[in-house]
Amino acid sequence: MAGEKELKKQRFDNDAAASLMKELRTTYASGKTKSYEWRVAQLKGIAMLVSEKENEIVEALYTDLSKPETEAHVTEISMAKSACNHALKDLKQWMKPEKVKGSILTFPSSAEIVSEPLGVVLVIAPWNYPFLLAIDPVIGAIAAGNAVVLKPSEVSPATSSFFAKYLEEYVDRSAVRVVEGNVDETTALLEQNWDKIFYTGNGKVGRIIMAAAAKHLTPVVLELGGKSPLIVDSNVNLEVAARRIVAGKWGSNSGQTCVSPDYIITTKAFAPTLIDAMKNTLEQFFGKDPKESKDMSRIVNSNHFARLTQLLDEDKVSSKIIHGGQRDEKRLYISPTILLDAPEDSKIMNEEIFGPLLPIVTVDKVENSFDVINSKPKPLAAYLFSNNKKLEEEFVSTISAGGMLINDTIVHLANPSLPFGGVGESGTGSYHGKFSFEAFSHKKAVLHRGFGGDAPMRYPPYTPAKQRLLKALLEGSIFGIIRALIGWPRV
Ligand code: NAD
Repeated sequence: MAGEKELKKQRFDNDAAASLMKELRTTYASGKTKSYEWRVAQLKGIAMLVSEKENEIVEALYTDLSKPETEAHVTEISMAKSACNHALKDLKQWMKPEKVKGSILTFPSSAEIVSEPLGVVLVIAPWNYPFLLAIDPVIGAIAAGNAVVLKPSEVSPATSSFFAKYLEEYVDRSAVRVVEGNVDETTALLEQNWDKIFYTGNGKVGRIIMAAAAKHLTPVVLELGGKSPLIVDSNVNLEVAARRIVAGKWGSNSGQTCVSPDYIITTKAFAPTLIDAMKNTLEQFFGKDPKESKDMSRIVNSNHFARLTQLLDEDKVSSKIIHGGQRDEKRLYISPTILLDAPEDSKIMNEEIFGPLLPIVTVDKVENSFDVINSKPKPLAAYLFSNNKKLEEEFVSTISAGGMLINDTIVHLANPSLPFGGVGESGTGSYHGKFSFEAFSHKKAVLHRGFGGDAPMRYPPYTPAKQRLLKALLEGSIFGIIRALIGWPRV
């Protein structure tokens, strides 16, 4: 089996990528992916795959991340079903051309925006929500009428194999394909001339993707990460706040979530109260020894385990641990860890943590939190816990982030009416709900005209009177148009 997989990997080189592209281009050129019926059939196929293979998905997620079953259902499987159902329900509406206002310059005419598929697109997925973050963009690509290749992450091999084994069984494989592999295979895929590349992962590889896309002027969506801050004011409902913070940090894939709170900012005076509340909540959720809890995912692999322990072991940082810090390499376990006032220039305060470590930064006044956030690259998410409406308004207007959530963590991405994506270093482009359809569509401007109303003034030979009228029309000056039409003042 391993040998067979090895062989498959060896075969997927530049030539294989080129021939796959040729095949998918032929399918796309046939026009079949554009029809509403084809799109619906594929989306139904994916919905059926998710329903029929639910147990296999749970197993794969457990193998890759020890992901607790409830977490697998809530944060991956149900979200995938919901994305599929949403697309099935609204697709007809999304596909309808949007009529827009006419213009005096083109009178008489009618205008519309037609959403057309981009063509053949590539989706490159990460390992942390390896099922959802692979299938969700694929749903968008299909809903928009594209042919699509999915490259799941090699860091989550069980989920990657799941896709390779089943996806093509449930959809039209002449238009939807899975390519497994690691950097070599991804590099071979990136040589091709895609109509869009949708990449989820870290910013370092994001730059490689963008550079490869630039060769063909291929547009990209980059769903990246960063350090998502969380401000806690002292006027909060402490119990609810602590539950939502602990759930968002440790109860969601052990902090291996792109929108996981990366660090907390609170006042010096309030920090001890908040820390106590978080410790109590940790114990309520995961017991006295979280290592034995079945409700906490493990670190994905030994590389990431080493990366995280290095963040903790930096000399100036280890003395700042005020809770947790235990680790067990064999079980890829690091206990929920809280640090207080780690130095600003430490690695943990400058790199995305992406794990169960939570530094707390203290400030004199909660308003000073904004300067801390604005001194770092724009985050994917920013959180504020406060009952102060004025602070909330200032937070929304002062902080630039991919998305924001007031008085909770992470759940903003469960609302399909909101776009999900980053800004600046946290990414470019967005998806979810209709935004997924739009991410994989081109908005084509279409103007319809008849042969009547052919105004001679637009054609040479030009005269001063024609010029006046054209200028007035272009500048939208009704007075100017009337003046030009009646020829006043005479020149
Ligand atoms: P990863 O290691 O699985 O990499 C993602 C994909 O990039 C994989 O498919 C991999 O094959 C490919 N890849 C890796 N190296 C490559 C190279 N040199 N050339 C071409 N392709 C390459 O995942 P990761 O990057 O470790 O994921 C974690 C990061 O992703 C974090 O920064 C996190 O914040 C971010 N993330 C963002 C979102 C989002 O929606 N914005 C979601 C999840 C994760």
